[in-house]
Amino acid sequence: MDTIQDASATELIEFNRPYAAKNSFAYMQIAVDNSHTCGDGSFTKRCQGFLEQEIGVARALLTTSCTDALEMAAVLLNIQPGDEVILPSFTFVSTANAFVLRGAKPVFCDVKPDTLNLDEKCLEDLISGQTKAIVPVHYAGVACEMDHIMSVANRNGIPVVEDNAHGLFGKYKGRNLGAIGAMATQSFHETKNFNCGEGGALLINDEDFTERAEIIREKGTNRNRFFRGLVDKYTWVDIGSSHLPSDLLAAYLYAQFETFHEIQAIREYSWNVYDNSLREWAVECGVEQPHVPMHCEQAYHMYYLLMPSLDARQDLIKHLKCLRITSPFHYLPLHLSSMGAKFGSRAGDCPVAESISDRIIRLPFYNSITKSEINRVIDGVMSFEIG
Ligand SMILES: *Cc1c(COP(=O)(O)O)cnc(C)c1O
Repeated sequence: MDTIQDASATELIEFNRPYAAKNSFAYMQIAVDNSHTCGDGSFTKRCQGFLEQEIGVARALLTTSCTDALEMAAVLLNIQPGDEVILPSFTFVSTANAFVLRGAKPVFCDVKPDTLNLDEKCLEDLISGQTKAIVPVHYAGVACEMDHIMSVANRNGIPVVEDNAHGLFGKYKGRNLGAIGAMATQSFHETKNFNCGEGGALLINDEDFTERAEIIREKGTNRNRFFRGLVDKYTWVDIGSSHLPSDLLAAYLYAQFETFHEIQAIREYSWNVYDNSLREWAVECGVEQPHVPMHCEQAYHMYYLLMPSLDARQDLIKHLKCLRITSPFHYLPLHLSSMGAKFGSRAGDCPVAESISDRIIRLPFYNSITKSEINRVIDGVMSFEIG
């Protein structure tokens, strides 16, 4: 009987594993030794400077999450009850909620069957006199068709906020994601390429928003101008909240930024092992692999497969679970949610989002994943037969 493998003895391969860089904890200690662990300390400034330099944005402000940065964007755009905001149905709930919190109605755009990104060809028809923002999401770190989106937006005088939670260091026609719209938001949640547990950033390209963004982030005060000596006392000047992360978290994050080339290179390598190893199997089984258009450099955020049917997807999840491999599906289309229904959305509104949401499966993918773990996942997937 000792030839039968005891499945429970096999180590679980999780979907994600939190990552700390070599210097993350040493830098947190330095923040304590500096006697500055609240927001806007030296590590926060270093993280912001890094993002401004590497992405080429006018201003980067660390926030406590991407959700938080999206909420700041909604305040900056003066979103009011009755306004409409266009976003893909296939996204995380915060892309919508940040604007809904200010009273906006989310208008859901369908996605493209190849990149799973907002379908730019559907955009024009969704614009109304009430449209106050367009929020494309660069799904899996592959760029949306930004030329088309920006030209429709500019023609109609509507600002674009890139939800770039997946796309840090991705490029569209040579341009950095996050540097194209009026603003962009980043996530440093545990599951993202660069993380501090929970964290985010607001990137600002349109400098008209910079000063007010600093005020909103500092509880509606002009504290930032005070510290720069531009006013002689600081006071309450606008609405706002506490959007600053602790410098401890910035320290943890900065250690990862310092090694961003290595982190991205290792993710690129893992992504390519999955993609190359599964190609033949995928073609044979009618499974689609991710599509990266020639003019896009992806951010290597995720590796997913599109199965031929919901049943095949559910069976593969079960099959991998038996092999102690965690492979989740992803977003449920927002237009099908109970909140979506309250805004008048119905099944059938975004057919592509409905179809891919049923068929997508994400494979384990994280900075510290090993070659042997990847091989176990690949063997597990290839041992699956579509019934
Ligand atoms: C992760 C994610 C968010 C939210 O990020 P948090 O930092 O957890 O608030 C928003 N949008 C997308 C597309 C995401 O993947």
